[in-house]
Amino acid sequence: MFKAILLNKNEDGSTKAELAQLDDAQLPQEGDVTVAVDYSTINYKDGLAMTGKSPVVRKWPMVPGIDGAGEVIASTHPDWKAGDAFILNGWGVGESHMGCLSERAKLKGDWLIPRPVGMSSRTAMSIGTAGYTAMLCAMALAEQGVTPEQGEILVTGASGGVGSVAIAILAARGFKVVASTGKLDETEYLKSLGAVEVIDRAALSAVGKPLQKERWAGVVDSVGSHTLANAVAQVRYGGAVAACGLAQGMDFPASVAPFILRSVKLIGVDSVMAPKARRIAAWTLLAAELKPEILATITQEITLADALNWAPKILAGQVRGRLVVNVKG
Ligand code: NDP
Repeated sequence: MFKAILLNKNEDGSTKAELAQLDDAQLPQEGDVTVAVDYSTINYKDGLAMTGKSPVVRKWPMVPGIDGAGEVIASTHPDWKAGDAFILNGWGVGESHMGCLSERAKLKGDWLIPRPVGMSSRTAMSIGTAGYTAMLCAMALAEQGVTPEQGEILVTGASGGVGSVAIAILAARGFKVVASTGKLDETEYLKSLGAVEVIDRAALSAVGKPLQKERWAGVVDSVGSHTLANAVAQVRYGGAVAACGLAQGMDFPASVAPFILRSVKLIGVDSVMAPKARRIAAWTLLAAELKPEILATITQEITLADALNWAPKILAGQVRGRLVVNVKG
C-alpha cells in the first residue's frame, strides 16, 4: 500500500479530493516504468485538478500531480532500470494518467528524463513544471535574439512559480528585470530574486490602448488577458514576448498593431507536450544556472496532506514562489 491524493467525482459533479491508501493494482495499466516518487509539487494546474475549478481531469478516479521526481523501482523500458533518477513533467500526467501526488506511480519511460547529476529530487521539484516553463520562456526570448543590452524585461505574475523562477534566471543572465505583481508587500522577496523594479499589476490588468509607450525588450507573461495585451503594446520595436499562462484569463483582447507596426514577436510556450530534447536542454540549463540559495528563498515544503489545503490557495494567487510536496512526509 502507498499514500496518494485521490480525486473522485461527487454525485453533483463536484470534485472530491482526499488522502488515500492505494495498492499497485490501482495504478494504470498503461506505463512501462514504476517509480517511487520522493517529491512532487503543486502547480496552478494541480490546483485546478484538485478543486475541480476547471475540467483538467479527464479520467476518474485520478491521482493529481503533473510533476514528480524520485527513483525507478522497476522498468520494461529500454532506457530505464531500477535505481535510475528521473524527473517527470506534464504529458497529461495528473490529468488523463494517474499522477505524482503519490508515493508511487506507473509512467511511460518515454515521458521521463534523467535527473541532472547532482540535482536532488527536492531541488528538481522546487523547480517543477513552473520553473521548467520559466526556462522555456527564457530560451524562447534568447532564440528571438533578446539580449540584456536591448533593455528591460517584464515578468508578470511575478510572485508565482513561473514568475519567481523567470526573475531569478533572467536576472542571473544580466537582464534588468521589472516584476509586475499584485502583492506589493512581496517587493523585498522579488528584489531578492533579482528584480530591479517592482510594479503594481493593476497598471497592466485593465483595458489598454493597442499601442503604448515602448518600454520592454522582452516579456515573460504567465497571466494572459489584458495583462498580456498591454505588455505586447509596450514592447519595443523588434522585441519578443513569451506567453505561457492564463492566471488573469484565457482571453487575449489585443490588436495586431504591435506586430505589424513594431515587428513585435509573440511566442507561445507549452511545457506539457514539449519534445524530450527541449526538456533536457531546459533542465540542463536550470541545473547550471539556478543558485541553491535562490531556490531556497522561492520554495516552501509541504506534506501530501497539506496539499489539499494549498490547492485553492494557489488558484486564489495566495502562494508565493513554489510549493514542493514531500510525498513521504
Ligand atoms: P502561480 O499561481 O504560482 O502564479 C500565478 C501568479 O499570477 C500569481 O501568483 C499572481 O502573481 C498572478 N495572478 C493570479 N491571479 C491573477 C489575476 N487575476 N490577474 C493578474 N495576475 C494574477 O501559478 P504558476 O506560476 O504555476 O502558473 C502561472 C500560469 O502559467 C498559470 O496560468 C498556469 O496554468 C500557466 N502555466 C502554463 C504552462 C505551460 O506549459 N504553458 C506551464 C506552467 C504554468 P502576483 O500576485 O505576483 O501578481
